[in-house]
Amino acid sequence: MQLDVLGDWQRTHSCGDLRAADADREVTLTGWVHRRRDLGQLIFLDVRDRSGIAQVVFNIEQNPAAHARAEEVRPEYVVAVRGRVVARQKANPDLASGEIEVIASELRILNTAKTPPFVIEDEVSASEETRLRYRYLDLRRSRPKNNIALRHRVLLEIRRTLDELGFYEIETPMLTRSTPEGARDYLVPSRVHRGHFYALPQSPQIFKQILMISGMERYFQIVRCFRDEDLRADRQPEFTQLDFEMSFPTQDAIFGVIERVMERACAAAGIAVQGPFPRLEYREAMQRFGSDKPDMRFGMELHDVTTHFASAQGKLGFQGNVQGLVAPGGGALSRKQLDEITERAKSLGASGVYTIKLAADGTPASSLEKTLGDYGVLAIAAAAGAKPGDLVVAIAAKEQIPGTDAAALVAGQLRLHLAEKLGLIPTDQWKFTWITGFALFEWSETEKCVVSAQHPFTGIVDEDLPKLEDPSDAVRLSMRSKGYDLVLNGVELGSGSIRIHQQEVQQRLFRALGLSDEVQRARFGFFLDALTYGTPPHGGIALGLDRVVALLAGEKSIREVIAFPKTASAQDLMADAPSSVSPDQLDDLGIAVKE
Ligand code: ASP
Repeated sequence: MQLDVLGDWQRTHSCGDLRAADADREVTLTGWVHRRRDLGQLIFLDVRDRSGIAQVVFNIEQNPAAHARAEEVRPEYVVAVRGRVVARQKANPDLASGEIEVIASELRILNTAKTPPFVIEDEVSASEETRLRYRYLDLRRSRPKNNIALRHRVLLEIRRTLDELGFYEIETPMLTRSTPEGARDYLVPSRVHRGHFYALPQSPQIFKQILMISGMERYFQIVRCFRDEDLRADRQPEFTQLDFEMSFPTQDAIFGVIERVMERACAAAGIAVQGPFPRLEYREAMQRFGSDKPDMRFGMELHDVTTHFASAQGKLGFQGNVQGLVAPGGGALSRKQLDEITERAKSLGASGVYTIKLAADGTPASSLEKTLGDYGVLAIAAAAGAKPGDLVVAIAAKEQIPGTDAAALVAGQLRLHLAEKLGLIPTDQWKFTWITGFALFEWSETEKCVVSAQHPFTGIVDEDLPKLEDPSDAVRLSMRSKGYDLVLNGVELGSGSIRIHQQEVQQRLFRALGLSDEVQRARFGFFLDALTYGTPPHGGIALGLDRVVALLAGEKSIREVIAFPKTASAQDLMADAPSSVSPDQLDDLGIAVKE
């Protein structure tokens, strides 16, 4: 086919922006042929650009040359069109520009296109694999395109807000050395220094702390982080954080900044939120919601009903605490549905699951009646706060990790499941919560010792400092950190802390983690040195921006808000990465691949 050149044609309007007020204007549009309808005398082209779609009409009588050219185009051809805007006789309410159409005077075909592997429509039946392989076509669809636009607006608003609050955006190195954030490093071999490797940053943690030592006072960065983690649903090996640090902070000051940032980021998505966000101690969150990232959009809080089961524990044969949970209106659930709930609780680790249905008049129905009697059953229902028509689920589970209530953890997960099943989670609410009061250490089953609950730079509650030298794991596990998390609608957006800023304390903490002075020097010597040159108190946080944007966009997966995401198995299907490299390249690096 003979292609046209764009020449000196310049777009005058965006397709999706044309309105009735533009009637009679001569316009030049550019874009892709979204759809073509050929009615013989008339050809309709839907021309699409980033802003949306405009209908262009080619009339054989009025303009035979343009009409003939329009006969040649196919979907996704690239075109430029000139014509006059006219009001449509019958508006199309499904299209933003549906009040008008463009009567074409000239059509230039700038490029052809192969038939795409899926139609460029909102609803595609193509698999995610196909969509990712042809991501450039996928991004032409309005939903992914709108997500990318939203991401731009949110990031821009974050930058504006932090700039107004006196923060500098400062880039930190990508080729650096390991920063411990609990994942495996991505390593980059050095050609110049054979046998030496850079690590891609798991986070800019050490660099941002050093920027505080440098006197930068207020730093932020919208930054890519890399963590080589085992395959987990909806994680990306590289992801974007809003990383943030400030000097001389109170916890309130840090929370205040993030609350301003989140208010404006949400506003960019048309969502109104207002700080200050409520705060919850970790312990209270676990007790009331069985989760350290509670979804606060609905109630259904847990109630410890262990004492009510005391007399029956032997007979029922369960182990551990018992947590009661009320599903409002759940009294109407069928036997089969109750079985499904019981099965789920067991698969989550419950050692016993007991249900009590309350009829509309409050009469209980429960298998517990035989053991506890009507009175005992009603006492549990009352303790759990049930009303007539509700369902009570009592969950027993045996303590797995010392100090954590396993029953609460199971009940917390069941709470989410039941709320979703019963449609009790409002989708138009945006409940941010700060979680504070975390433990400094946690027990690692794999390493059989205490490890940092967050990262080893997290500050320590002052009164607990002497416990650092206590050899007892139990004592160490009781130590409190100055860390905090930000949670939105049951999703952890990120964590931060007031940091350790005294070298002596940092060394004691490393020692408590079992790092000898030699290992400390080898891994963190530069940082330990920097700490000795007048380090101000400082603290900060990092928020997962992919997750923030996905929530604001109403998307379940972060892949939907990343322009070029990787699959769950860390592959880029479009660029076909990772890939093998030539023997020469490996030779240069002094590397051989083991069979
Ligand atoms: N570096 C931490 C992280 O990536 C966040 C922080 O402590 O600021 O989770």
